[in-house]
Amino acid sequence: MPTSNLYDTQSLRERDAAHHWHPFTDTKELGANSRVIVGGEGVWIEDSEGNRILDGMAGLWCTQVGHGRREIADAVYAQMTKLAYYNTFFKTTHPPVLELAEKVASLAPPHMNRVFFTGSGSESNDTVIRMVRRYWDLKGKPHKKTIIARRNGYHGSTVGGASLGGMTPMHGQGDLPIPGIVHIAQPYWFGEGGDLSPAEFGLKAARALEAAIDAFGADRIAAFIAEPVQGAGGVIIPPETYWPEIARICRERDILLVVDEVICGFGRLGEWFGSVHFGVEPDLMPIAKGLSSGYLPIGGVVVSDRVADVVIGEGGEFYHGYTYSGHPAACAAALANLAIIEREKLVDRVRDDIGPYLQARWRALGEHPLVGEARMIGLMGALELVPEKTGRAVRFNAPLGDVGALCRDFAFANGLVMRGVRDSMIISPPLVISHDEADELVARARLTLDATHAELKRRGLVAE
Ligand SMILES: *Cc1c(COP(=O)(O)O)cnc(C)c1O
Repeated sequence: MPTSNLYDTQSLRERDAAHHWHPFTDTKELGANSRVIVGGEGVWIEDSEGNRILDGMAGLWCTQVGHGRREIADAVYAQMTKLAYYNTFFKTTHPPVLELAEKVASLAPPHMNRVFFTGSGSESNDTVIRMVRRYWDLKGKPHKKTIIARRNGYHGSTVGGASLGGMTPMHGQGDLPIPGIVHIAQPYWFGEGGDLSPAEFGLKAARALEAAIDAFGADRIAAFIAEPVQGAGGVIIPPETYWPEIARICRERDILLVVDEVICGFGRLGEWFGSVHFGVEPDLMPIAKGLSSGYLPIGGVVVSDRVADVVIGEGGEFYHGYTYSGHPAACAAALANLAIIEREKLVDRVRDDIGPYLQARWRALGEHPLVGEARMIGLMGALELVPEKTGRAVRFNAPLGDVGALCRDFAFANGLVMRGVRDSMIISPPLVISHDEADELVARARLTLDATHAELKRRGLVAE
């Protein structure tokens, strides 16, 4: 129950509705109905009505260390009072950016020793497109330029990022993708696996890459880009057979492998990087989100020696950079964030302790009548909602996404942020979540499923 209300919620909502154009929102339909979030502490956020809500999404997959960590704010304050801004173009540097590059290189696999900084994951992926094409030009292969990506992948919302992504609704707005990008199948066994076993399907999905490369000719394909586990696409965990096969295909055909670590990087899967979990060696790793736990915007591309030796070693000036590449305050936030992750051993904690703990309880939700599959890896999970438990292919007799949206609204009413993707529900909580809070998360998710199930019964969308 709300105890105090220092905010005039309705007035804030109306002012928001008057001038704020919301990202990924039907702003007109939203009207003056925004949820106003005013505070955060640990895994909890607080709205303007005084409700405490368990942030099952860590903001947008980013708040690894939880909300309200004073030492990050202090580090940013200290940096800003010393040097709030200077650029890193034209032969200059500053202590936080060089320290952060050194730190990220030390955490990255041994063959990756360079970091190019950006302001976001999208900018990192735009950088990837330019680096990859520059690399092949310098290798004397100017026709090796097409990048293969995946349907239902997510790589950001700039023109380059959205083109690499495989989100059809995004492509439909703004004539995307740009030329030179092609999309292949995703390793989504629950949705698309048919009668194959997960292992068979993983190989099949990986071999779509081989088929695409051979159809175009390896001399025209520059790179393959994929998330270790698709996040925005619905926490799609590839079968075990998928990644080793992808790595083999890229190696044999001399295609650069870009592993988008924007979500999986910095502990989400119980390793510093998702590619380490899956045992593959990327040529490039875009990063963002967990790098600073979202405290300030910062991203980057971690670059292998193979690519750096050519693009830096032989390429002369690379005509690329952002005003905020290596922003001093953002670097200070990232350094303080990484210090917390290391000191509190959050990466090991996800692998050995809270990961297995929450996974066991989350998977038990698979017994709920509304859940066709409950899957989780590290600290990212999904529930596939189904009208009956007879098979994977059964869908609700309602527009795709309606049930997911209904369930998401029930979750919020139950004090839990879960995101709806199509008709599945996903979570990705802060890595600091305690055992008690994990129990609370699962309890609230179960209540939410019960409420959704009751409402669907009322509407005749599930069996009695
Ligand atoms: C969020 C995300 C991006 C885009 O990052 P922004 O900071 O929103 O630009 C890119 N790749 C993946 C895998 C993401 O989840």
